[in-house]
Amino acid sequence: MIGSGPGGAYLAKRLTEQGRSVILVEAGPVVRTRDFHKDAGSTLSQYFMEGGLRRTAGNLYMPTMQARCLGGGSVFNSAICMRTPQFAADKWSRDHGVLGIDPAAMDPYYERVEQFMGVRKVDPSIQGRRNELFRVACEEVGINPTVIERNEEGCRGSSNCFNGCPTRAKKSLDVRGVPEMIEAGGRVYTSLRADTLLMEGHRVRGIEGYTVEPFSKRPGQRVRITAKCTILAAGAIATPVIMQRSGIKRDPVGRNLQFHPGTALMGLFEDEIAPWSGATQGYHCLDFMEEGIKLESLWVAPSLLAFRFPGIGKRLKEMLSRYNHMASWAVWVSGEDSKGRVRARGRAGHDIQYHIAQKDVQRMQDGMAKLIEMYFAVGSRAVYPGVYGLPDEISDASGAELVQRAKLSPKNFPIASNHVFGSTSMGEDPARHVVDSSGAAWELDDLYICDTGIFPSTPAANPMLTVMAIADRMAETLESRY
Ligand SMILES: Cc1cc2nc3c(=O)[nH]c(=O)nc-3n(C[C@H](O)[C@H](O)[C@H](O)COP(=O)(O)OP(=O)(O)OC[C@H]3O[C@@H](n4cnc5c(N)ncnc54)[C@H](O)[C@@H]3O)c2cc1C
Repeated sequence: MIGSGPGGAYLAKRLTEQGRSVILVEAGPVVRTRDFHKDAGSTLSQYFMEGGLRRTAGNLYMPTMQARCLGGGSVFNSAICMRTPQFAADKWSRDHGVLGIDPAAMDPYYERVEQFMGVRKVDPSIQGRRNELFRVACEEVGINPTVIERNEEGCRGSSNCFNGCPTRAKKSLDVRGVPEMIEAGGRVYTSLRADTLLMEGHRVRGIEGYTVEPFSKRPGQRVRITAKCTILAAGAIATPVIMQRSGIKRDPVGRNLQFHPGTALMGLFEDEIAPWSGATQGYHCLDFMEEGIKLESLWVAPSLLAFRFPGIGKRLKEMLSRYNHMASWAVWVSGEDSKGRVRARGRAGHDIQYHIAQKDVQRMQDGMAKLIEMYFAVGSRAVYPGVYGLPDEISDASGAELVQRAKLSPKNFPIASNHVFGSTSMGEDPARHVVDSSGAAWELDDLYICDTGIFPSTPAANPMLTVMAIADRMAETLESRY
């Protein structure tokens, strides 16, 4: 198993418990609680791919963060657990022929994962002012706030998911999944990067790679691991690159790359908000998901948000001095009209192209407009959109219409996305898809893929829970095949 994110680690645990001999290979290091930083820059540079500077090129430069450590994205994500809704699953069956993905059919797999990962609603005692304001704002403008569900036990609301949970209340895969796998006899090799697949004609026989010094990332010893069955779960960017580097040049490999692009808006209040207290993300609004728009309350470290503040010198200083009076809410969009591609480049690199469609830009503007309306409905004094081509500061609710109608191009936006899909997509047409509905690679033997790259299009929901439910189903399939 290559990659210990939610897809790989969970599947490795299930297979080991079924009595299989499993080796879980992870390029990154183990991160202990005492290794977590409060400072986002250090978190990014130590535990994220390309030091947190991974980005797409195309019609915009979009940062996209993928963690590089035992547990993958689950260590630094907000732990939001959400099932893929019916309308998105219908699209996977209708447009890609994916079998058995209907929510009713997936229900037992989701249930098992939810139970194991401790998925629960954010407790009211740790919502904090920023999240509560989001809830009230939704109600004021006549839309429905929904309490977020997360994989955690005993969260104290330190708003620090992004830097790694300081109390380990977040049940990321390194603390839930990998320990159970080891207990059941599985082996885990960290700081070992898979480079290529071992191929014998159409048969995949394992991987070749090399050890990596955990922090300098210097390559060390060459390693070869042979296996009856190889599963790539290195994430939607790395998995297709490993395949391409192994000489698998089939057209769909690396194509059809999709994201959930998003942006955050800050709102200023008269009262103190202390936005850093409470759950990182406590409420979301699901009313516009079928239109491709999701709204969430959000907190991340100042170093990641404040770079979008207007002004320099005295004005910037003033803005920063009001930070404790601000809330931050985010919009992300389905990105269903936007496409990209990832290609291996040179010995160890890759190139990510992404073209965001005007329809998705408009979805973003519509979502931002809704957030502006919400901010002023609960007494915000100013909203800072941080988008080139819009006013620095919006001082009343009429700004919502202005934002919605502005003629903006993708390059105007400071968009980012950490939800990545489609680059090794699942479906029943070998010409368009890389794996079939069971996760088995088309036209190759003994190779499976289990990361979010197999989602054939964007899932509308936050993706972690779905990749784990698919992993749970895949464990059943593999049990009957090996
Ligand atoms: C800041 C942030 C917040 C997020 N918030 C949420 C959220 O709240 N809810 C949600 O549902 N989703 C969230 N996501 C997205 C979610 O974390 C990812 O969708 C999920 O982790 C993807 O799982 P995966 O198993 O496909 O891949 P990953 O989690 O990316 O895991 C892949 C693993 O493979 C390893 N790897 C890569 N290349 C190699 C190689 N060559 N050899 C060996 N190992 C390799 C990587 O180091 C990594 O550990 C967030 C993501 C981020 C970054």
